[in-house]
Amino acid sequence: MSTRKVLVVEDEEAIRQMIVFNLSRAGFEVTEAGDSATARRLIADARPDLVLVDWMLPDSSGLELTRALRREKHNRGLPIIMLTARVEESDKIAGLNSGADDYITKPFSSRELLARINALLRRSAPSDDEPLQAGDLKLDPVSHRVTAGNEKITLGPTEYRLLKFLMGNPERVYSRGQLLDNVWGQNVYVEERTVDVHVRRLRSALEQFAVDHYVQTVRGSGDRFSTR
Ligand code: CA
Repeated sequence: MSTRKVLVVEDEEAIRQMIVFNLSRAGFEVTEAGDSATARRLIADARPDLVLVDWMLPDSSGLELTRALRREKHNRGLPIIMLTARVEESDKIAGLNSGADDYITKPFSSRELLARINALLRRSAPSDDEPLQAGDLKLDPVSHRVTAGNEKITLGPTEYRLLKFLMGNPERVYSRGQLLDNVWGQNVYVEERTVDVHVRRLRSALEQFAVDHYVQTVRGSGDRFSTR
């Protein structure tokens, strides 16, 4: 599995550094923001797998940030854990009602934080059996069948795995190296050029059914699956 990305949104420098230190040491790729505006930008750019949001932020509250993210189609399923110094039950309910998935009261141990993060990432991982769909294009992991409307699309095994990975992680650009790790697996020696060959093959198979626009190459960066 690729490195999981966590965004830490907390204006108190000392607390933020402590969290960043602990998460980095636990193997997460960590980005940080001291306010909601920066957090919004980083969520759009870095596509974190999980966001830790402090309740009290200088520009808007963590509650407002969470509510705003939940209104956006692409962030509706973004795993969010709220951090707060408040202990009252009513605040906890408000935090969860805003759309946060979990809630941690300060002070917390790094062990508790990591346990909550890992539990939420496990819960949020899309089930391997769930069909993936974008417009007319559908991939059913149970039957290994890819369809466009009623038409069956025949894909080679690598193209199938590539499409499954990209569809399961939409709106995110993956470099050739990242695709190799995730689709071919680590410790497999394949030239990066090979990725291009399979992406081209995948796209031309999809092209016959006019659903190739979902697989997009971003020049100099990599490939992504996008419905935009
Ligand atoms: Ca704060």
